[in-house]
Formats: sequence, structure tokens, C-alpha cells
Amino acid sequence: MRILVTGGAGFLGSHLIDRLMAQGHEVVCLDNFYTGTKRNILKWMDNPYFELIRHDITEPIRLEVDQIYHLACPASPIHYQYNPVKTIKTNVIGTMNMLGLAKRVKARFFLASTSEVYGDPDVHPQTEDYRGNVNCIGIRSCYDEGKRVAETLSFDYHRQNGVDIRVVRIFNTYGPRMLENDGRVVSNFIVQALQNQPLTVYGDGSQTRSFCYVSDLVEGFIRLMNSDQIGPMNLGNPGEYTILELAEKIQNMINPGAEIIFKPLPEDDPKQRQPDITRAKTWLGWEPTVPLDKGLELTVKDFRDRIEGNLN
Ligand code: NAD
Ligand code: UDP
Repeated sequence: MRILVTGGAGFLGSHLIDRLMAQGHEVVCLDNFYTGTKRNILKWMDNPYFELIRHDITEPIRLEVDQIYHLACPASPIHYQYNPVKTIKTNVIGTMNMLGLAKRVKARFFLASTSEVYGDPDVHPQTEDYRGNVNCIGIRSCYDEGKRVAETLSFDYHRQNGVDIRVVRIFNTYGPRMLENDGRVVSNFIVQALQNQPLTVYGDGSQTRSFCYVSDLVEGFIRLMNSDQIGPMNLGNPGEYTILELAEKIQNMINPGAEIIFKPLPEDDPKQRQPDITRAKTWLGWEPTVPLDKGLELTVKDFRDRIEGNLN
């Protein structure tokens, strides 16, 4: 198949491309390099079945493809809050453009949505039928509400125009190739511990997150895309940790002498988050296989190589 991956030069997109190329597909990667880098897809550049297009999805584009994995959107709070209006445009106009493309060429359309559609949840763990608790005027809203509209658009294109959609709600995912300056918690703690700087826990560290290793997530993507289910479907690792537990784990793993310091909790920071993955288990037979310790070990190795300049 010819498969379009928007945001393909980013963290998740580039891992997905690795899998799709290994499966023998033709892949078109579309990215504006806001948070993505060519380094992530360098190994495919000379492959005749791989094509890279520098393009901003807020502008329309005409392509002929069979499937579209739509991932383009900055995912880290510091990046999506840097230009919130642009984040909304990417989620709304960009998603509309990609759905329009899917409609025109009758391609199957996969939306990378997020657990953020649940906001600061008052149901725990979160099931797909929970409608969420999102602040529509806060600093996270450009992303949360943007993704909620992206889901609405997907379902309306499905109902109104018969577009074949798949919608996945991704919970915090980590792994090699996250940006060093990404600002997300796993990358921050690893970089800080490696550089002998204090690990910055926001708030008292009692807020929880559930961390999924990237290879597990990509497996779930491909299974959902090629199933008969449209979603929405949670994908994530149900193992739930407080942020302080995560800091201590990474501290012990890399640098037991590193200090842990506390900083103010950002506005609207969700207090707890854990996916209910019954749907993914029942519909796809999917569940995560990589435990946090193993996934962190692989991630630390990647950061160590990059930071210490050992990339070959
Ligand atoms: P990322 O920032 O590494 O990747 C996003 C990619 O999209 C980058 O390559 C960036 O350059 C590109 N991009 C951004 N705006 C664009 C635009 N207007 N036009 C073209 N390209 C654009 O983030 P990621 O972690 O790989 O996330 C990928 C997708 O998964 C995002 O849609 C994100 O919302 C979603 N998601 C990720 C997580 C996670 O934990 N990693 C959790 C929930 C949802
Ligand atoms: N966090 C933290 N220290 C950091 C970065 C993040 O304590 O250096 C916290 C953040 O406040 C949040 C959690 O870790 O409670 C996860 O943050 P991240 O930005 O990774 O993802 P999200 O909040 O979008 O789930």
C-alpha cells in the first residue's frame, strides 16, 4: 500500500514509519519539522519506496494514497503552548485538510488523538465513553480542545461523507528519539539525571501518569488501522505511577546522587491518568508487553548516546 504519515519526522511518526517500511509498504512522510527532525528518518532517505515532503498541513495538498496516519501536531506542552493559535489551526484546519484528502482519494484515515480529551478526569481509570473534564479557556485548551474537534471532524466526515476512520486516544508514550528539550517528564528526568542536574518534579509529585513504551503503541496503531473497528480506542500502558515515583526510579537508574527538587505545578495539570484498555484487549487482542524498567533502560541508552555524542 501507499501510506501517508503526517508528522512522520516526529517521535511516534518515525517509529511508525520504521514498521511500515519493514512491512514493505510505500511511505510518504509529510512534516513541517516544527518538532520533528530529519535525523529520525535519515535511514530511509535513499530508499525508493520512501518519500519526504516538507509541508504544513494547515495548507491543502493533493496526494494519492491508500491509508493516512494523521499524527502531525506538537505533543509536548511546551511546544504546543509556544504558539497556541497555530496548535489549534494544526488540529482543526490541518485535520480538515487531511480528512478532505482521505475523502477525495477514499483512503482510510487514522487520527492520533489523546488522553487529553479526558482533561483532568473525574473518572478513573478512563474508559472511552467518559466524556471528560476539559477547561476550554486554559493554557492546555489549544491542544485538548483542538484534539476534541479533530475527533468530532473525523466522526462527522465518517457519518456525512463515508470516510473510513480510525480514532485512537494515546496515553503518555515514551522511548528513543524523544527530543532532549521536549519538556515531557520522561525526557526531562533522563536528561537532568544524565547531566547531573536536579530532577524537577512539578507540584508535590503525587499526580499520576501511565507510561507506554513506543513499540507497544505502534503495534496497537497498526492493529487498529487494519481492523474493522473505528474507535475511539484508548492505547496506553495501565501501569500507573506518581511523578515522584518516576523521578526516584530514573534517579536510581542513572544517578543515585542526583537531587530531586520541587517546582510549581503548571495550570490545569491533570491529577491522575490511567487508561482502561478493555476495548483494545477485546477488539484487537492488544496489550502492552514492555515493562517500564525495560523501556526506560532502552530510552536512557538512546539519550546517553545522543548526549555523549556516541551516535554512529
Ligand atoms: P512530535 O512532536 O515528536 O511529533 C509531531 C510531528 O508533527 C513533528 O514531526 C512535527 O514537526 C509535526 N508537525 C507539527 N505541526 C505540523 C504541521 N502544522 N504540519 C506538518 N507537520 C507538523 O510528537 P509525538 O509524540 O510523536 O506525537 C505524535 C502525535 O501523537 C501527535 O498528534 C500527538 O498529539 C499524539 N500523541 C502523542 C502522545 C505521546 O505521549 N507521545 C500522547 C498523546 C497523543
Ligand atoms: N512534570 C514534572 N517535571 C517535569 C516535566 C513534567 O513533574 O520536568 C510533570 C507534569 O507536571 C505532569 C507530568 O509530569 O504532571 C507529565 O507531564 P508531561 O508534560 O510529560 O505530559 P502530560 O502532562 O501532557 O501528561
